[in-house]
Amino acid sequence: MYPARIEHYERPQSVAEALAALGRFEPGDAIFLAGGMSAMQAMKSRMLQPRCVIDLQDVAELQGVTREHGALRLGAMTRYAAIAADAAIPSAYQALRDAAAHVGDRQVRNRGTIGGSVSWNYVASCMPATVLGLRGAMLLAAADGSTRRVVADDFFLGPLETARRDDEILLAVEFPAPPAHCGSAYAKWGLIKDALPVVGICVMVGLDDDDKCVSARIALSGLADGCQRASAGEASLLDSEGDEQAIAVAMDAIAESVETQSDQSADADYRRQLIRSVGREVAARAFARARGQ
Ligand SMILES: Cc1cc2nc3c(=O)[nH]c(=O)nc-3n(C[C@H](O)[C@H](O)[C@H](O)COP(=O)(O)OP(=O)(O)OC[C@H]3O[C@@H](n4cnc5c(N)ncnc54)[C@H](O)[C@@H]3O)c2cc1C
Repeated sequence: MYPARIEHYERPQSVAEALAALGRFEPGDAIFLAGGMSAMQAMKSRMLQPRCVIDLQDVAELQGVTREHGALRLGAMTRYAAIAADAAIPSAYQALRDAAAHVGDRQVRNRGTIGGSVSWNYVASCMPATVLGLRGAMLLAAADGSTRRVVADDFFLGPLETARRDDEILLAVEFPAPPAHCGSAYAKWGLIKDALPVVGICVMVGLDDDDKCVSARIALSGLADGCQRASAGEASLLDSEGDEQAIAVAMDAIAESVETQSDQSADADYRRQLIRSVGREVAARAFARARGQ
């Protein structure tokens, strides 16, 4: 398959230039290109037929990881390989490194970006579930100079759907300063190692001074409705010490409460079993990190 005719290719050097290019076209007629790992396939299959492609690879202000007063900000064009290699990301947000280190193969990790992944919001993608699990927020800018911050719970609307408007660019994904004794982890299970997950799970927990769980967030990928919170499991972990039994009960609660689908990758019961087994391992790792282990 070959793309439909693309009339214009723009390569802006700044966010202002990128938004100006976007403004020259009717809504939806121009798209941003980040790593191209999803957009190129969508253009080849003609699922996307833009008149203009705005390539963001030279926009330096969209790249890199910054920290301020404990808060973390990942520029939209930060690539998976850079996230996976960033040893300064705190234990509270280690799930980002877990996810980035296992997205696709080396080529995908060297090209794909966090901004492209959350903007595309494919059902099985690792980053939307990870950002949702970690209480992330998307910073968006429009050509009129306005910006807005949309928390993950409001940003991810459904498969391939987000709250980003056609006239907006995603600037960054931000995470608030975490409380003390906080840890997170992510893992996926795919049919082959380098493939999109059949099921992926992100767990973030916060502990009090007695190592009791005072906050828990769990998000899933790979389900037909797209990335989603697993509130039954979150409630179940509260007040526990994250022991094997408490984690098993929480993962059973999730497996029984979420809707899993049967498709060519796995049947619904198998997905439920993956939630139990991958979930136990991920939650144990998140608790260990919260304890500083
Ligand atoms: C072989 C292969 C294996 C893969 N395996 C995995 C996997 O295991 N786990 C996983 O999570 N993903 C996987 N993926 C998908 C990969 O993560 C993609 O990189 C990601 O979905 C898109 O990121 P990108 O930077 O390539 O964005 P692009 O493909 O360039 O763009 C995706 C969409 O986001 C929009 N966009 C990009 N940047 C912005 C911005 N700043 N503002 C507004 N809109 C923007 C584009 O217009 C486009 O609509 C795989 C892909 C391939 C090809």
